Amino acid sequence: MAEVDTQVRKLKNFVNGEWVESKTATYEDVYNPATKEVVAQVPLSTKEEVDQATEIAQKAFEEWKNVPVQKRARILFNYQQLLQQNQDELARLITIENGKNTNEALGEVGRGIENVEFAAGAPTLMMGDSLPNIATDMEATNYRYPIGVVGGITPFNFPMMVPCWMFPMAIAMGNAFVLKPSEKTPLLTEKLADLLNEAGLPKGVFNIVYGAHDVVNGILDHPEIKAISFVGSKPVGEYVYKRGSENLKRVQALTGAKNHTTVLNDADLDQAVKDTIASAFGSAGERCMACSVVTVEDGVADDFIAKLKEAADNVKMGNGMDDGVFLGPVIREENKQRTLDYIETGEKEGAKLVRDGRKDENEDGYFVGPTIFEGVSTDMKIWQDEIFAPVLSVIRVSHLKEAVEVANQSEFANGACLFTSNASSIRYFRENIDAGMMGINLGVPAPMAFFPFSGWKSSFYGTLHANGKDSVDFYTRKKVVTARYKTPDFE
Ligand code: NAD
Repeated sequence: MAEVDTQVRKLKNFVNGEWVESKTATYEDVYNPATKEVVAQVPLSTKEEVDQATEIAQKAFEEWKNVPVQKRARILFNYQQLLQQNQDELARLITIENGKNTNEALGEVGRGIENVEFAAGAPTLMMGDSLPNIATDMEATNYRYPIGVVGGITPFNFPMMVPCWMFPMAIAMGNAFVLKPSEKTPLLTEKLADLLNEAGLPKGVFNIVYGAHDVVNGILDHPEIKAISFVGSKPVGEYVYKRGSENLKRVQALTGAKNHTTVLNDADLDQAVKDTIASAFGSAGERCMACSVVTVEDGVADDFIAKLKEAADNVKMGNGMDDGVFLGPVIREENKQRTLDYIETGEKEGAKLVRDGRKDENEDGYFVGPTIFEGVSTDMKIWQDEIFAPVLSVIRVSHLKEAVEVANQSEFANGACLFTSNASSIRYFRENIDAGMMGINLGVPAPMAFFPFSGWKSSFYGTLHANGKDSVDFYTRKKVVTARYKTPDFE
C-alpha cells in the first residue's frame, strides 16, 4: 500500500456520470504483472462513498425505470457500437492490467460485447405473460419491473467480461448499478464508464466505487441495494452470499472451480491436446473455466501425456503484448509464490512432475511456466484446491465411469469436458457428471451470453445464474395482476 502523494495517476470513482476523487487516504498500487511496473493507484474507498453513490443511483433509478424500454435498449445499441470501435484499446488495457495475451484480451472484449447485444433485446426479454380467461370474465397478467439499485462485485481475471455479465442487463431492465471492480484490475472499467456516458446513459444510472472489503461490506449492508451480483473466489463468495442474504437481498455468487476434462481412448488425441493446453494454460490458468485436471483412459494415457508435454514445451511465455506470446504472467507476486508452493506440495504429496514450470521462471514479471503433474490422486491438495495458475494434474483411469467418479468427488462443479467420438459415452457423461457447463470435444465450455453461466455445488451460491434468461429474472421482479372485466350487457 502506498501513500497518496505519488507521481502515479490516481484513479477516481465514477459517480453521477463524473469522475470524483475518493476521500480515502489509502491507495493501492495497480501493477502491470508482465513488467511489475506500477501503472496507476486505485483508491480503497470508504463505506460512506458507497452510501453516496447508492443515494445517487437510487435517485437516478426513479427516473430511469420510467424511460421506455426501447429507449433504454437504444443506449445499449450505441454502447455496442462504441465498444466495437474501441475494442483494440479495451484489449490493450486488459493486457496491461491482467497480463493475458492480446488475442485472449480481444476475445474477452468480444464476450463482453455479446452481453451488451443480448441486453439490447430488453423490449422482448422484459415482456410478461398473460392469460385472458382464467375464470368467467377474469384474466391474469404477469408484468416485469426493475428492482432498484444493484451492486456488482467482480474479480481480476476478466476485467471486461464479468462486469458485462452484470450491468448491461441490469440497466437494460431499468435498474441502476453500483460496481466495485477488482482493485487489481480497475483500469478497464474506467473506459467502460466513459463509453456509457458517450452512449447517452443518464447520469447516476451506472456508478463505480473502487476499493476492497470496505466497499464490498458497504454494498452488502446498504438497505437501498436490492440485489448483488458477485463473481470471485469461493470463500469470498460464500461470505457475500451469507451476509447479503442475511440483509434480505437477492444474491447470486459465482465462485471457484476445479474443472475436469476426460479424454477417452477413442478421442481425437491431437484435438484433445491442443484444447487442453489452451484451456489449462490460457490466461495463465486464471480462468474459472480453466481445465485443472485431465482424467485420461489408460489406452491413450502415455501418448496423451507425451504429446501434452511436447505442446507445453512449445508454449511461448512472456508479455502478452508481444507477438506470438501465449502464456502471460499470473496477477501478483503472491499468486506466483502460491503457485510455486503448490508445485512443491505436489511433489511432496508424491505426484510426478512431467513438466516443471519453475524452470521458466522469469523475474521480469510474475511468470510461472506450464506445469504438468501425473500420478495425481484425490487425496492430494493439488487435486482438491483451486490453484488458479498454469498447473495441470493428470490422472489415469480405466474407463469413463471411473473418470466421472473422480470428477464428482470435487467440491466444485463449474465446467467439465469430454473428448470422445462415441455418442453413448457423451450421453453417459452428460447424465452423470457434476458440472453446470459441459463441453464435448472442446476445452472451454463457457456459454454465450444468452445461456446461463451455471456452476453447481461450491462453484455457485444462489438460485438464478448470471446471463441467459436467469439474468432477466434476477434483475426484475414480477407483479401478477388478476382482473375482472364483466362482459358488457348489450341487451
Ligand atoms: P476474490 O474473491 O479475491 O475477489 C473478488 C472480489 O471480492 C474482488 O472485487 C475483491 O476486491 C473482493 N474481495 C476479496 N476479498 C474480500 C474480502 N475479504 N471481503 C470482501 N470482499 C473481498 O477473487 P479474485 O482473486 O479476484 O478472482 C479469482 C476467483 O474468481 C477464482 O476463484 C475464480 O474461480 C473466480 N471466478 C469465478 C467465475 C465464475 O463464473 N464462477 C468467473 C471468474 C472468476
